Amino acid sequence: MDKILVTGALGQIGSELVMKLREVYGADHVVATDLRSSAHEITQSGPFELLDVTNAKAMFEIAKQYEVDTIIHLAALLSATAEEKPLLAWNLNMGGLMNALEVAREQGCQFFTPSSIGAFGPSTPKDNTPQDTIQRPNTMYGVNKVSGELLCDYYFHKYGLDTRGLRFPGLISYMTPPGGGTTDYAVEIYYAAVTAGRYTSYIARDTNMDMMYMPDALDAIITLMEADSSRLTHRNSFNVTAMSVDPEAIAAAIRAEIPGFVLDYDVDPKRQAIADSWPHSIDATAARTEWGFQPRYDLQAMTKDMLCKIGERQL
Ligand code: NAD
Repeated sequence: MDKILVTGALGQIGSELVMKLREVYGADHVVATDLRSSAHEITQSGPFELLDVTNAKAMFEIAKQYEVDTIIHLAALLSATAEEKPLLAWNLNMGGLMNALEVAREQGCQFFTPSSIGAFGPSTPKDNTPQDTIQRPNTMYGVNKVSGELLCDYYFHKYGLDTRGLRFPGLISYMTPPGGGTTDYAVEIYYAAVTAGRYTSYIARDTNMDMMYMPDALDAIITLMEADSSRLTHRNSFNVTAMSVDPEAIAAAIRAEIPGFVLDYDVDPKRQAIADSWPHSIDATAARTEWGFQPRYDLQAMTKDMLCKIGERQL
């Protein structure tokens, strides 16, 4: 990676990834793009361009203008929003990906896009979900993610494009609010703990899902992209996770820091149905053995850091 184009750069992942990439590779080497602009540090700390990823010509022109050699494609509609707007999700998630792959092919770029635990479905084994297994999701987001994984593998086999991807679990971060995913509760609960001492969860007790702290997700993207290509047999996409938790587990970790924290429930049937179709815990052995995936934060370490950072931001 030398000159990197990032789409969807103002989102939950992009807003932290761009800053990290600029630290590692140099500010001028990371071209951030998004559909919208804002007074965000992303738009001021290095090159920033407005870009709608459904506009192939505009994406091609920006890639050419900056002579990028890597595309990190993040722009997408997330699981809960995609279920509300399935047609928009198909057009953005598949159309945007196809455009980004075509630009990468024409420019000879290395390519990364995230998949998700949403790429699994109700018939997937739920515990210790293998890297290679049944993927028959019943959500539009899941359909997009499986199709995306296959499309990226297709571009690798057909054109030799160096495509790589991760099946992210729910990502937890304190800098940018999440963008309409099923695991958003696991971010909201920390903010509510600091500001109100209580939280009402839309996800039911005993619903275990995989999660990971954002610093580990950023490290995973960079480590995978820098890995020796000949060691990768899976490419699109690797299971990665740091913990499997339900709302009670997070609440217990919060109570170790904020003893009176109260958790109650008002389950949202739509988001619960999506959560119920996902695995309880996924197996990240392929990521560990093929490119050395090793998350640093478990639930306790993440909880301490989240509460401390959110507390600092409230001051
Ligand atoms: P987000 O919703 O926070 O951000 C998406 C960004 O894309 C936003 O800044 C939005 O303005 C932008 N965008 C929307 N439509 C666009 C368009 N037409 N053209 C250009 N930009 C557009 O999403 P995120 O959480 O940062 O997720 C990024 C990727 O990671 C997605 O592919 C998502 O499916 C995947 N992922 C995220 C998580 C998670 O927990 N955050 C988990 C698994 C996978």
